[in-house]
Amino acid sequence: MTHPRSEHAGALLTVDLGAVCDNWRLLRDQPGVVACAAVVKADAYGLGAQRVAPALAAAGCRHFFVAHLDEAIRLRACLQADAAVYVLHGAPLGAEREFVAHRLIPVLNSLAQVDAWGALARASGRLLPAVLQVDTGMSRLGLSNNEVQRLACSPQWLDGIDLRYIMSHLAIAEEADNPLNRQQLERFCAIRADLPKSGACFANSSGIFLGSDFHFDLVRPGAALYGVAPVVGAPNPMRPVVRLQGRIVQTRLIESGCGVGYGPSWRAARPTRIATVAAGYADGLPRSLSNRAVARVNGQPVMQVGNVSMDTLTFDVTDLPESTVQPGAFVDLIDAENGVDAVAARAGTIGYEILTSLGRRYARHYIGG
Ligand SMILES: *Cc1c(COP(=O)(O)O)cnc(C)c1O
Repeated sequence: MTHPRSEHAGALLTVDLGAVCDNWRLLRDQPGVVACAAVVKADAYGLGAQRVAPALAAAGCRHFFVAHLDEAIRLRACLQADAAVYVLHGAPLGAEREFVAHRLIPVLNSLAQVDAWGALARASGRLLPAVLQVDTGMSRLGLSNNEVQRLACSPQWLDGIDLRYIMSHLAIAEEADNPLNRQQLERFCAIRADLPKSGACFANSSGIFLGSDFHFDLVRPGAALYGVAPVVGAPNPMRPVVRLQGRIVQTRLIESGCGVGYGPSWRAARPTRIATVAAGYADGLPRSLSNRAVARVNGQPVMQVGNVSMDTLTFDVTDLPESTVQPGAFVDLIDAENGVDAVAARAGTIGYEILTSLGRRYARHYIGG
C-alpha cells in the first residue's frame, strides 16, 4: 500500500513500534504465561503488519496469527523461517497445497478441514502441522460439540497431522467477572480430555488478565499489543501506540447563529472561529463522532462541531490563541491523553474498530522500531 507524502498529507499517523514491543513483553511476562504469540490480522489491526511483525520478531515473538491465507502469504515474506504463521480461518477447501508451499499452519475449524488436511498429509507421506479450533460458547468458528464427539470416537482422522494446539476463543474476556469465562474454560478442558493430547491455546489479550488458568501453552493477544485496554473498568497497563495528527486546511470566523457543516447539526451561539481539519469519515473517523470528537492543540482540548464530513472535521477553536490554529498546523486527533478507546467511546464503538478503520490517506511514520 502506498501512503501520501507527509508534506502534503491531510493527516499524519505515527505508529510507535517500540510501544508495540513493550506491550508484547508486558503480556509475555504476566505470571503463568508460557509463550506469547501476536495476532497481526487485518494488517496488524490497521497499523501495518509488514512493519509490526518484523519488530515483534526482533523482540522475540515466534508465533503470528492472521485470519486469511493471503494475509499469511504476505506475512510469511517478511518473517524468518523460525516464525510460525497460523491462519485462523483455516485452509479454504482446495487451497491446502498453498499452505504447505508457504509453510503456513491452518487452524482447522471443521471436520471437513481436518479431513482435507489429513488426506494431504497422508498422501504426501509427511506430518503436517495444524491447530484445531473447538467452539466453547461463541458459536462462530471451530468444531461443534457434535463434531468433537465424532472426532473423539475416530481419532485416526488426525493421522498425519502434527497437532500443535487445540484452541478456542473467549467471547467476553474483557469482563473479568462474567461467568461465561469460567464456563468456556471448563468446556475447553472437558473437550481437551476427550481428544488426543496436544498443546492448548486459549487466551486473547483480555483472557491473559483472567489469570494463569487461562494461559495454557500459548496466549494470542492482538488488541492490547496496539494499546487497547484489555480489562473493562481497570486502568490500562498498555503503552499507547498510535498518534493521529490532522492538518488545519482553513480557518474562518463566523457570526452567531451561523450553521456549520451538513445539516447543519450545529449553530454558533457566539462569534466563533472554526478550524477545518483534513480528515473525515473516509479516513476512519466515523460520522458518529459528529459534535462529539475532541482534538487537542498543544494539549488544549477543542470540540468538533457540526457533522463529520467525508474529508473534513470542523472544530471550534475560538478560545485558542489565533497563532496556534493557522492553516498548515496540526491538531491531535488521537494521542496518549485521548487514546483509541476514548475516541471509540465517543463514537459508540470499540478501540478495535477505530484502529482497523484508520485511513489509507494518512502519511505514516514508524518510530522506535
Ligand atoms: C482476533 C482474535 C484474537 C485476538 O484478540 P484480541 O482481543 O485482539 O486480543 C485471538 N484469537 C482469535 C481467534 C481472534 O479472532
